[in-house]
Amino acid sequence: MSAEPVEIADATEALAEFLAASAGPALVLSGAGMSTDSGIPDYRGPEAPARMPMTIAEFRSGPVARQRYWARSHLGWRRMFDARPNAGHRALARLQHHESTGPVITQNVDGLHQRAGSTDVTDLHGRIDRVICLDCTAISGRTELHTRLTAGNPGFGAGLDPIQRPDGDVELADTSDFVVADCRVCGGILKPDVVFFGENVPPARVESCYQLVDRAGSLLVLGSSLTVQSGLRFVRRADQLGTPVAIVNRGRTRGDEFATITLHAGCSEVLAGLVSRGLVSRTGPASARPGR
Ligand SMILES: [Zn+2]
Repeated sequence: MSAEPVEIADATEALAEFLAASAGPALVLSGAGMSTDSGIPDYRGPEAPARMPMTIAEFRSGPVARQRYWARSHLGWRRMFDARPNAGHRALARLQHHESTGPVITQNVDGLHQRAGSTDVTDLHGRIDRVICLDCTAISGRTELHTRLTAGNPGFGAGLDPIQRPDGDVELADTSDFVVADCRVCGGILKPDVVFFGENVPPARVESCYQLVDRAGSLLVLGSSLTVQSGLRFVRRADQLGTPVAIVNRGRTRGDEFATITLHAGCSEVLAGLVSRGLVSRTGPASARPGR
């Protein structure tokens, strides 16, 4: 399979054919490449920051690590909060409305699929706009925490122009003055309700995703390099079931060997292309199918 970028018109056509041949709506598995056009950078893309995100072991290691995490995350939150769905998210919601595609499993924590109008979305790695208490498991909103962190750290980060990172945090050297907020219910440790590196996706969530794969007419991977097993396992499952797999991603992926078609292109361009050419329905444009 060639790694050469394909012309967008060709990619659009190839994907339309793939969806038309699918035995039912395609299950979607989306990754960071879906949200780069919304200004949220990709860890593994060509312009990825060098440093990896904090692991769960590091986060749990003590107050200093958590101080560092929350200080960076606090400064990065505004940009995450301001991110808006892009043309790809909107086009995908339209495809789902026309039953070309079905449920969405996303590795992104930004909630942009839902904001674009997609339904039946599984947030595989959780949501950055929610906060969970590690002690009492109470879930709360990030906006509320942001207000508390702002009040507890007046003027923090003023004048800095930090480098944004994909999980909504920023590069920041000195975080020793930052005052972390605790759970309002029990005083316990707060963590964003996302799956950290080194942490497992809750088993029940994984199982329900496997069931989605088992029922799907095909699997459409959008903007994921499938570097981690977390997403790759669903592609393997589809392959075992003989379910066709299409991958749209700017670069090679670990799932390419399982794919029926791989399109090295941007998600927004390809998906928006389907919509602009009227290829939103699996049966294709009405004019091209007289008698339907
Ligand atoms: Zn608590």
